[in-house]
Amino acid sequence: MEGFAALLSDEERAWQQAVRAFVEREVTPNAGRWDEQGRFPRPLLERLGELDWLGTAFPTDCGGSGGGPVEYAILCAELARGSAGVALGVYVHTALACAAILHIGSEAQRRELLPAALRGERVGCWAYAEAGAGADAASVATRARRDGEDWVLDGAKLYITNAPIADFAVIVAATAPGQGLKGLSLFVVERDAPGLTIGPPMRKLGMGASEMAEIILDGCRVRGDALLGVEGAGFLQAIEVLTLGRIAAASFACGLGDAAREAALGHVRERVQFGAPLARKQFVRFTLADLQTRLEAAWQLTLAAARLAAAGQPHSEQASMAKLLASETCTWACERGLHLHGAHGYMRESVAQRFYRDCKVLEFGEGTSEIQRETIARAMGI
Ligand SMILES: Cc1cc2nc3c(=O)[nH]c(=O)nc-3n(C[C@H](O)[C@H](O)[C@H](O)COP(=O)(O)OP(=O)(O)OC[C@H]3O[C@@H](n4cnc5c(N)ncnc54)[C@H](O)[C@@H]3O)c2cc1C
Repeated sequence: MEGFAALLSDEERAWQQAVRAFVEREVTPNAGRWDEQGRFPRPLLERLGELDWLGTAFPTDCGGSGGGPVEYAILCAELARGSAGVALGVYVHTALACAAILHIGSEAQRRELLPAALRGERVGCWAYAEAGAGADAASVATRARRDGEDWVLDGAKLYITNAPIADFAVIVAATAPGQGLKGLSLFVVERDAPGLTIGPPMRKLGMGASEMAEIILDGCRVRGDALLGVEGAGFLQAIEVLTLGRIAAASFACGLGDAAREAALGHVRERVQFGAPLARKQFVRFTLADLQTRLEAAWQLTLAAARLAAAGQPHSEQASMAKLLASETCTWACERGLHLHGAHGYMRESVAQRFYRDCKVLEFGEGTSEIQRETIARAMGI
């Protein structure tokens, strides 16, 4: 059976095969080039929009194409199999920026902002992190204050994926400074808003096919209806509903890890040392068996979290466990995959080195491993 196909329904398997075939044709052959160029392939986003795939897990009345968390998890895993950088850009756009608008926005905001975004004509980014605010959200220093009918934002957002190409940003800012998480609100800000500047592209270790920059807000003036959700509660509202982001991050860790496993398997079948393919050596066989086992376990836990979410049942703990297990397994799989390639894998043209550079961020994006462990421990009552 093909990777990650166990326990999928016939419809889910057909969806997985359709996305996998598309990725093998249109993403995988270009992934190395996009990575080296440091460019996100915007036409690909439009293509995903034309196919109605960007709207997966979004309702049809705001431009979505239906489906739910399971279909979305499959989409993320398969995209990441071809290019983790592309999967990162797509996931920030859909699972963070668009999902925040869907779940927290007003009916008017959903209808105005989502259709073009889900067609891939407009790109969104999620601007939370700052120089002083990483794992500790309560230390967000960007401020938003009312001025008549408007809001005025001041601050700087760092490490923002999609910022160089984004048409709009969902920005986390304090509307009640000093009140920690209870004073954080969300705003949808257009790229051309007065007082908003995008910094130069930031250079990264991996995820080259995604683009990143700083967003500077200097007296950035937006209309009153740019506020997303309840004033002072927007960020907490977002954390509650953006579990799709954690499931998506887990899925794409599974997809990337499985691509590393597959590349290593291909290599050890071909590479002859001591008169036989490396695949005949017990150490190599056992490493691959462990990779297969742990990746399948991570995928099954991710699917379980997605199925709970689809059934409308509590799933925050499972989403954290899936994200924790999948991201750490992915890092391990990419490291082992490179190891099995030897020097060949260390060369710039090898996919193994790209996977190895791409994987690490999945352990700290969407809540670091330590934050996931805190969430799990709290759910255990300790
Ligand atoms: C490729 C990439 C893309 C990104 N894209 C975005 C984006 O689109 N939007 C956005 O807002 N941000 C983005 N980020 C930033 C991301 O949000 C942060 O990396 C994340 O919030 C963690 O913050 P930090 O990296 O500053 O780590 P820190 O908070 O400084 O943590 C450093 C280390 O200390 C550990 N630590 C922190 N607190 C605790 C604690 N209480 N107990 C135990 N350990 C702890 C952490 O787990 C981590 O291992 C991106 C980052 C990267 C690398």
